[in-house]
Parts: sequence; structure tokens; C-alpha cells
Amino acid sequence: MSRSFDVVVIGAGPAGYIAAIRAAQHGNTVACIDEWQNRDGKYAFGGTCLNAGCIPSKALLESSELYHRAEHEFGKHGIRTGGVEMDIAAMQKRRAGIVRQLTGGIAGLFKAARVEGLVGHGKLLKGRKVEFTPVDGKPEILEAGHVILASGSEPIELPIAKFDGDRIIDSWDALELDEVPGTLGVVGAGVIGLELGSVWARLGSKVTILEAMDDFLFMADRDVAKIAAAEFKKQGLDIKLGATVKNAKAGKKGVKVDYEDKNGAQTLEVDKLIVAVGRRPVTENLFADDAGIQLDERGFIVVDDECRTRVKGVFAIGDCVRGPMLAHKGSDEGVMVADLIAGEIAEMNYDVIPSVLYTNPEIAWTGKTEAEVRESGKAYKTGQFPFMASGRAKAMEQTSGFVKIISSREDDEILGVHIVGPMAGELISEAVLALEFSASTEDLQRTIHAHPSLAEAVHEASLAVDGKALNFPNK
Ligand code: FAD
Ligand code: NAD
Repeated sequence: MSRSFDVVVIGAGPAGYIAAIRAAQHGNTVACIDEWQNRDGKYAFGGTCLNAGCIPSKALLESSELYHRAEHEFGKHGIRTGGVEMDIAAMQKRRAGIVRQLTGGIAGLFKAARVEGLVGHGKLLKGRKVEFTPVDGKPEILEAGHVILASGSEPIELPIAKFDGDRIIDSWDALELDEVPGTLGVVGAGVIGLELGSVWARLGSKVTILEAMDDFLFMADRDVAKIAAAEFKKQGLDIKLGATVKNAKAGKKGVKVDYEDKNGAQTLEVDKLIVAVGRRPVTENLFADDAGIQLDERGFIVVDDECRTRVKGVFAIGDCVRGPMLAHKGSDEGVMVADLIAGEIAEMNYDVIPSVLYTNPEIAWTGKTEAEVRESGKAYKTGQFPFMASGRAKAMEQTSGFVKIISSREDDEILGVHIVGPMAGELISEAVLALEFSASTEDLQRTIHAHPSLAEAVHEASLAVDGKALNFPNK
């Protein structure tokens, strides 16, 4: 007899495992299937985010930042270290340990919530059945009241620069390097290119990033992109815009990259080349041909605003569906879908999903950019406050950047908040809450912020919107 569950989730990344836990909290019987295998041969829950994405990259960003500050900044604080050395093996051991703890934590969470974590491959069949093939066993058919597809994404491979796992590598390989490459090339100045480029540059690599677009950080507000470009240049990241890669050839000693930019044909020779030109949804062998699931022209599973596929009772969430490929977006979709299955009213506010780049300075935003507001034809006002004028930022020796707020001239509603500077990824939460509550600029202006704190810069930027900043001359 086949086993049956109220909810079967395929994929235990941040979208799937959160959906499974929330569905169990509603009193459902839940199974969550995942086949992720790490390079040590061990299977682990947590998907890309915990194993090869958000968490290991932030661990390395932290280690490399501390090293960089010890080398370049400690002296200003009066700390004499007498030469700083980086132990890459120890750094990588710490990174692997954090990953192991957190992925093991999901197994613990599943146990506590009574979610059955199944290790192996899941495939949706017709009629809300799921074929589960354990990694070391025979296929089994699970009957499901509801199915949630959360299969995630994988790096896009360029045919002219195919991954070889040694010289031409993807982001996962780039997180697990056991030595600092003397020279490093990166194709793509997106989030991964900038974060991983920063890690290895801080550790001593000479990093060149080739970006196809003419505009740097085209998705960010222009004021933010401008200051970020200047800061990254100061840090030694050589970012070449409008660069079209024609060919990359790996040899014994390194990689020869042919590209073209406004000055014509160019060549770059590097020890390693990271290709980070985006990710694509994983859907191979995820559903049977007659299961009724539809893909769009880019390979994403077609869903409506509530993440419902065309098949009754089957949902899809996270990186395998439209929208930004972000862990928190997937998790929130997981919560929404589990609540909908439980018969509750639930929705996602896709307009206020925060974006964060964990570079130095950090970059974070939510809502609309100034260009988007301008294009919408809405009358608007803006205010900026530089971290240079923040006492806390000065104490931290982190004074680059600013907070910028864009508000409606008509009704004072905050439309977008853009932060480049220390802890931008933390500071943005206040802005997300403000936008979620459709707060006015005055609401922020009348909110008391602790002194001295970085958050005061958000407060001052809201005052600057109306020419009332107190700690910086108004425009
Ligand atoms: P995934 O995390 O990809 O998980 C999908 C899981 O499903 C995988 O474990 C996979 O093995 C499993 N699976 C797929 N098909 C099957 C099947 N048929 N049967 C069984 N199992 C299956 N996002 C952020 O928000 N913040 C960050 O700081 C951040 N940093 C990143 C850094 C890097 C280097 C990378 C690569 C990504 C980063 N991301 C970040 C993006 C983030 O990792 C993804 O948006 C997120 O992991 C998507 O979650 P998901 O659950 O949809 O998919
Ligand atoms: P991305 O979409 O952020 O950036 C890819 C970049 O590569 C773009 O700037 C694009 O113009 C460029 N590009 C594309 N094709 C190219 C080519 N042939 N030659 C040169 N440049 C080219 O993608 P990514 O950096 O690979 O990241 C993938 C996903 O992972 C993103 O959607 C991102 O949201 C997510 N992620 C998030 C975080 C975070 O939230 N901090 C960190 C890392 C990754």
C-alpha cells in the first residue's frame, strides 16, 4: 500500500523546508524530499542557500572582511598586530562547519515539527502522486493531498566558457577554493560576481570582472550604483563594463579569456575564471509529461500570484518560479502557500522584497528606484543623508555611502529606500516595514531612533526629504 501525506514538498531549500514546517504547523502530515549532495558525499537539507549560496558566501565575506580590516584599518584604532596572516584552510573549515550546523539544524527542525524528511529524488506524477526514489532504494509512490514544487535553480553555463570544476568554475566551486588565486576573472558583475569577487580580492587576488551591460548594477538606483562603482574601484576590483566574452580557454596554467569592449578585441589571462551570469530554474525530471505542469519560455514553472500551477492542488515556489531569486522571497512564498492550503487568506507583497548585496559598503534597497518613480509620472521628492555625518559610522570607521528616500509629493507615502553603507542589509528592515505599512515620510520623521546608531541615518534621510535634516546641511 502506498503512503499518503496531506502535503508533499519536493525540494528542501529555503522555499521548500519553510513551506513544509509551516504546513506541519497547520496540523498536516508532511513529507519533504531532497537530493542535495555535498562535495564530501553527504546528503544535506537546505538547498543552494545553506549549502552553496547565502550562508557560505556570507561566512567568507565576514572572514575576508575581518582580514582586510586587520590589515588596513586596525592601525587607525591603535591596534598593532605586527603582521597579519590568512590561514585559508582554517577559514574554509569554519565555513564548512557553519554550513554543517545549519543544514543539520533543518533535520532537527523537521523532527520537531513532525515533517518526514526524505532523502532522494521526487517526481510529480499525474493525479497528485509523487514518485520518491531514495538515494539507495527503489521508487515508492506517495499519495498527496497537495504538492509543493520547490526545486530551486542552478548556475547558467556559457557554451563559450564551459565549467570544468578547476579553471572555469561556478559559484559553488568559488566558495570552496583552497588557495587564493593570484589572478581571478569573473564573468558577470551581478550579485555573485561582486560578493565573491570581493572575498578573493580582499584575500589578495587581483580580480577583473567582465560585465556585458554598459550600466553598472543596472537594477539599483543610479546614485547607489555610482558610489558603489567608485568604492569597488578603490578596493581594487577592476570592473570592465560593456565587455562581451567571446571565448574562454582553460590550459594547464590558467584561463585565456577573449572579450570585446568599446576599444575592440581584448584578452585577459587569469589563474581561475568564475562564471556568474545568472541562474536558471531546475525542472529536469521533476514532473511527468502528463502531470499538467507548464513552463514559460525561460523554463520557469508557470504560476499565478498565489503560486498555484495549472494543476489543482499543485503549487510551485522559490527560484523555480518567476520573481527575484532570493531566499527570503522563496521562504515567504512557502509560508503563503502553506497558509492557503490550510484555508487561510494569504498573499505576498512582491513590491517590497528587500535586495541586499553583502559587499563593503553593503547595498540594500526596497521599493522603487528614482528612475522607476520618474517613469511612472508620479510627482516625488527625495532626501539623502551621508554616513560621513553619522557619529556611529565614524566610530565604526565606516563612513562611505548614504541613505536615500524617495517619497510621493502628493501624499507623502514612502516609495523607495536605498542604502549604501555599513549594515545596509540590517537597516533596510525598517524601510521594508515602513513600505509594508504604506508609511508616510512623516511617520519615519516622528519615530524616535536611538543615538548614536546607524539607523539615525535613515531618520535623517526622512527629514532631508522635506529639507529638515538636522545633522547635515539641507539642499
Ligand atoms: P534551492 O535553495 O536551490 O533548493 C532547491 C532544493 O531542491 C535543492 O536542495 C535541490 O537539490 C532540491 N531538488 C531539486 N529538484 C529535486 C527533485 N526532483 N527531487 C529532490 N530534490 C530536488 N539569496 C539571498 O536571499 N541572500 C543571499 O545572500 C544569497 N546569496 C547567494 C549566494 C550564492 C553564491 C548563490 C548561488 C545564491 C545566493 N542566493 C542568496 C540565492 C538563494 O540561494 C536562492 O534564491 C535560494 O536558495 C532559492 O531557494 P529555493 O528553495 O527555491 O531553491
Ligand atoms: P545576476 O543576475 O545578479 O548577475 C548576472 C550578471 O551577469 C548581470 O549583471 C548580467 O548583465 C551579466 N551577464 C550575463 N551574461 C553575461 C555575459 N555573457 N558576459 C558578461 N556578463 C554577463 O546573477 P548572479 O550574480 O549569477 O546571481 C544569481 C542569483 O543569485 C541572482 O538572482 C541573485 O539574486 C542571487 N544571489 C543573491 C545574493 C544576495 O541576495 N546577496 C547573493 C548572490 C546571489
